[in-house]
Amino acid sequence: MQRIPPTGVTDVAARVAHVQARIAEAAVRRGRRPEDVTLVAVTKGVNDVRVHEVVACGVRDLGENRVQEAVPKVEALGRAVRWHFIGHLQRNKVRIAVPMFAMIHSVDSGRLAAAINDAAVHPIEVLLQVSVAGEQQKHGVSPEAVPAMVTAIGKMSALRIVGLMTIAPLAADPETVRPIFRRMRELRDAARATASGAQVVALSMGMSDDFEVAIEEGATIVRIGRAIFGERH
Ligand SMILES: *Cc1c(COP(=O)(O)O)cnc(C)c1O
Repeated sequence: MQRIPPTGVTDVAARVAHVQARIAEAAVRRGRRPEDVTLVAVTKGVNDVRVHEVVACGVRDLGENRVQEAVPKVEALGRAVRWHFIGHLQRNKVRIAVPMFAMIHSVDSGRLAAAINDAAVHPIEVLLQVSVAGEQQKHGVSPEAVPAMVTAIGKMSALRIVGLMTIAPLAADPETVRPIFRRMRELRDAARATASGAQVVALSMGMSDDFEVAIEEGATIVRIGRAIFGERH
């Protein structure tokens, strides 16, 4: 399986096209529609020129994992794109982060959810980060905690809990993490069946090395950096 972009194809536009084709193929393999999978281009460590290139390709969802690094990028691009916060969010950064991001993928505690709720002027979409692989994953709530957390966040008036997110452990072979993605889908389906879970639909999972497997298991949002921008230095 071709996982690194072909040699010679180094510009962002060609890489985006290649990634989008792979997303579409993985979706179609499971009878899903390609447009039901959102590509979030992860721009951490990427300079402005290349961020603009990816937007020029029509990518409208960009992800950052550090608030400080995101500030100048969000100021430069403004409302032209939807910004996703995908990193660990410290509570002392919540007030800066909330107005900048359309979606926060990394809510991993009730205290963080409450802090976002307090800071939000307008409703904000959030995902509950889940640690399926236990101690291999630094952040995220346990699978057992998902239903209660969905209920608790569902009561916070400024938060829209629209799905779940996970970061699979690094694996040489993406097949190794397939069971993690499958478990996420089961957790999402269970959460969706609870009283306050009707809008728990999104599954943010899959990165450069494992996004096709994630899509085959139900990902609706993939977060991709290196396959578009190359290795980070
Ligand atoms: C960096 C990062 C990504 C993108 O990873 P790649 O391997 O570069 O595709 C996705 N999700 C999170 C949370 C990240 O921090």
